[in-house]
Amino acid sequence: MSNAAQGMVIIGAGQAGVQVSESLRAGGYAGAITLLGDEPHPPYHRPPLSKAWLAGEIDAAQLTMRAPEALARKNITLRTGVKVSAIDTAARTVTLSDGSVLAYDGLALATGATPRALPVPGADADGVLALRTRDDASAIVSHLQYCDEKGLPVVVIGGGFIGLEVAATARKRGLAVTVLEAAPRLLGRVLAPLLSDWYAQLHTDHGVGIVFNAQVSAIDSKDGHVTAVTTADGRRFPAGLVIVGIGVTANDSLAKAAGIECDRGIVVDACAHTSVPGVVAAGDCTARRLPDGSLLRLESVQNASEQGRSAAAALLGQERSFVATPWFWSDQYDKKLQMAGLSSGADHWAVRGTLASGAFSVFHFRGGKLIAVDSVNASKDHLLARKLLDAGVSPTLAQTADTTFDLAGLLEK
Ligand SMILES: Cc1cc2nc3c(=O)[nH]c(=O)nc-3n(C[C@H](O)[C@H](O)[C@H](O)COP(=O)(O)OP(=O)(O)OC[C@H]3O[C@@H](n4cnc5c(N)ncnc54)[C@H](O)[C@@H]3O)c2cc1C
Repeated sequence: MSNAAQGMVIIGAGQAGVQVSESLRAGGYAGAITLLGDEPHPPYHRPPLSKAWLAGEIDAAQLTMRAPEALARKNITLRTGVKVSAIDTAARTVTLSDGSVLAYDGLALATGATPRALPVPGADADGVLALRTRDDASAIVSHLQYCDEKGLPVVVIGGGFIGLEVAATARKRGLAVTVLEAAPRLLGRVLAPLLSDWYAQLHTDHGVGIVFNAQVSAIDSKDGHVTAVTTADGRRFPAGLVIVGIGVTANDSLAKAAGIECDRGIVVDACAHTSVPGVVAAGDCTARRLPDGSLLRLESVQNASEQGRSAAAALLGQERSFVATPWFWSDQYDKKLQMAGLSSGADHWAVRGTLASGAFSVFHFRGGKLIAVDSVNASKDHLLARKLLDAGVSPTLAQTADTTFDLAGLLEK
């Protein structure tokens, strides 16, 4: 069976895929645009899955990113529940799970990422869940209810953003929660030690038990349902629900099989080109080659949106490089963390405001240059930080720590 419709084909109907399709239209593309997604739902926002959606604070309409009618009005064909099983870059076709073949003039890969599985015995028990999709979130909601009814605790494996957001939401529901973190601190890959400690205190104050240097060795179950998590030092943590939040891997196997260069993600340049002409990629599935040759993997709404815009431009034969300062946010309890820039490699920190007040920013410096700012309940600092970083303007450590010093004034010079 074959379908000869040409035009632009986008694989993955998430944040990046929707952005590519809409930016193609906004960019003046008049041909057919087909957005293919393997999930049964129309495109939805992922961030609320661990926050307001999990807490039951928003409804399905608020979770939806684009209703099918909104895409139809832009003459974008959305096909949900359909998986692309192969790409032939020479013939410029994709094969779908139903066996049909779709031809393309330009192809965008926006396939996202998959949670890492927990490599221990028993991890396939009912009640051991990761969180990536709307269906994952629904499963977690019903297991939270189960824990509620039976008075069972929740164990979160991995003290990263998703695990900690779920922990905060479960605490809001009054459930007992323990976080098992393999490293000696929370969010160690992304936060400075003083912020890791501050977050550990925040969770402790809300009644979460945190165990550092925890090596999970097995999941125990009874009649197929999880009952406990065991660590290598012999400790046993009873659980009615286990959340596994130990990171994701980029969905790049389709690209790899098609001969597109991949290296822990689909390798793209700043304009979202892959190694194959006519094929672009955007979002969590990518690894962006930086000018120094290293690869940068970002998993954020901003990255998916900005790369999506670049990818659409590239398909239209334009160069729109995505070089803006990366930003990200996380909501835990009543605290909004907003991060601008990338803090890895920082050698100095300065705090603006006080950690004890619960509203402050940590400015990260490398070689005297500002490289990132993490703000907690300090949105003004965050917006200013993005401007400073975009402009390459660095305050000194002393100016940063002095709340009477007008940092915005540095932009006017
Ligand atoms: C629980 C949670 C909380 C988050 N919170 C935040 C936050 O607070 N702030 C922030 O900036 N970011 C957050 N993120 C990250 C952010 O949501 C992602 O970076 C973003 O959704 C990536 O968009 P994407 O389009 O690249 O991938 P996705 O949104 O994952 O979309 C990819 C889609 O492609 C589909 N697909 C894959 N392979 C195929 C195929 N072969 N055929 C058809 N379809 C396919 C996938 O099923 C998926 O639907 C969060 C993510 C999660 C899971």
